This record gives sequence, C-alpha cells and structure tokens, in this order.
Amino acid sequence: MTLQTAGIHHITAFVGDAQRNVDFYAGILGLRLVKKTINFDAPEVYHLYFGNEQGSPGTIITFFPSPVGRRGRIGSGQVGVTIYAVPVGALQFWEQRLAEYGISVTKGSRISEPYLSFADYDGLRIELVEREEGPLSKWSFGGIPTKYAIKGFGGAVLYSSNPLQTSETLVHTLGMEHIADGDGYTRYRTNGELGNIIDLKTSPVPLGAGGAGTVHHIAWRAKDNAEQLEWSRHVQSHGHRPTPVQDRQYFNAIYFRERGGILFEIATDPPGFARDEAPDALGEKLMLPSWFEPHRAAIEENLTPIQVREIEVKQG
Ligand code: ZN
Repeated sequence: MTLQTAGIHHITAFVGDAQRNVDFYAGILGLRLVKKTINFDAPEVYHLYFGNEQGSPGTIITFFPSPVGRRGRIGSGQVGVTIYAVPVGALQFWEQRLAEYGISVTKGSRISEPYLSFADYDGLRIELVEREEGPLSKWSFGGIPTKYAIKGFGGAVLYSSNPLQTSETLVHTLGMEHIADGDGYTRYRTNGELGNIIDLKTSPVPLGAGGAGTVHHIAWRAKDNAEQLEWSRHVQSHGHRPTPVQDRQYFNAIYFRERGGILFEIATDPPGFARDEAPDALGEKLMLPSWFEPHRAAIEENLTPIQVREIEVKQG
C-alpha cells in the first residue's frame, strides 16, 4: 500500500503578544479561535489554535505567543509562507479589507496563480489565493461574509537548505505528486481539498533562525492512529528518525526533521477539538489536559487574559 498524506494538518508558529495574535487571526482574518490551551512543554505560555468553525485538519494554525521571546528570522529550514485559500472572486474583498486595517499588501503571482501577500503583526508571511477546492467556511466574524471567508490552507511555501532532498521526501515519503515548475519554485500536490498544494523554493535561501514571526513546524495529516503507526515505519524506512507518538490532546503527533532542515510532524485527524468542549463553545475557556488540571490556578494566574474581539478599522 502506498501512503499519501491528505495534505497539511496544521502549521505552528511563534509570535509575541497573545492579544495581538488573536486580533490578527480572529479579528482581521476572521478565523475561529477553536482552542485556548497552554504549551504542554512550557505551561507558562498559551497555545492558541485558529481554524474554521470546527478546526478541521487543513485549516488549523497554532501559536505559542511569548512577549519576551526573541524575534526569529525567516529562512531555510522553515515554512517560508503560509498560504490560505479563499473562494474564487474573494481577493478583491481581502485587498480592501486588509488596507482598511492598515496592513500593507503586495500582489504577485506564482506559477500563474495570483496572490495577495502580507505579514502578520510579528512578521509571519501570509498569502491568500483563490481556489475552487474546499468547502466554504461556515464561520463568519468581523463583518466577513462567508462567501469571502478563508476556507483553510491553500498550502505553504517551503524554504529548504537542500531542496533536492526535500523534494525527494515530499514525493517518495509523503506521496505527493510533482505537478508544476516556475518562478523558482517546484509545485507538489496531494489528495486533500485544503492544504494540498506545496511550493518548494528551488534555490536555497539563507538559514532561518527560530523565534517570533517564524513557523516552528508543519504537520501532515494521518487518518487515524493505525495509519500514524504505518507512517512511523514508513518514515523510518526512508531513513528518517521519527519521535515516539506524543499525545497532543486534540491529535497524536510524531515528528521528524527532513533533510532540508524543516521540522515535519505527522498528526492524526481525530479526535479533534470537540473532544473537551461543545462545538458551539470552542475556544471559550482555558482548556488543560488532565495532568495539568491540579495546577490550574497557578497556570491561569501566569497568563494574561485574552479575548476575541472586533477590531476597529483605521481611520483616514
Ligand atoms: Zn504540531
């Protein structure tokens, strides 16, 4: 049996201030804060998850906000650009909306596909592209009609220190298909409807440094725990060294660093974010895994409260 990932499960990045992070991704981009929890490896830091109304795989971006963390540098060994898919005809709406919020946008095209490019408040590079694929968002916030709302990931641009080896891993390990070349990128496709188009920059870029404004890792989808075990064996048979399975509460994860320096994760679709909150109340409370629950009071005291709120348009 040939394993093929259905594409991006989630992307995880470092940022500075937590409230500004919520303001950007929920207030301006209109994503839903689907889970408010902590970094299980560093409980003094939030772990915030934004996605579509359910936080479906292929729509989830997650952040570790740390106001005291150092600023990173985008470069090789990282996801260089996180790409969101909006419905066909929606780019014009977004160009205007981002301008109203004072976010500077450039227009470009890669492999004949137009995009809007901008950065979040911490410098993370984001692009919007129009795609037919993927269900329309059912979540509406901040005055964004669902017909224009972000559906989920369109894909990502990978910056590798060894593009040939990374290409090898995308095709032979993850099961992606090489579908196009152009503008200094190689494009791969996999079988999901969201997060299914990956562009690899063909020339190496200067080495990145982790920190606020950079992506920490990109996770690929596994159907369930059984398939994840197959993935673990499969990844090992291609000479990588995956970690043991880690319980991330909303999915199980294994990690390995591909040969171009990018940290890859393989994450299970289940159980998802409704595991510990009702679907209509996702993201409202600080959720802790059972092993942290006895320390809730101390953990909450350490965290600055955050809220999802409408953002005022810049005047003038
Ligand atoms: Zn992850």
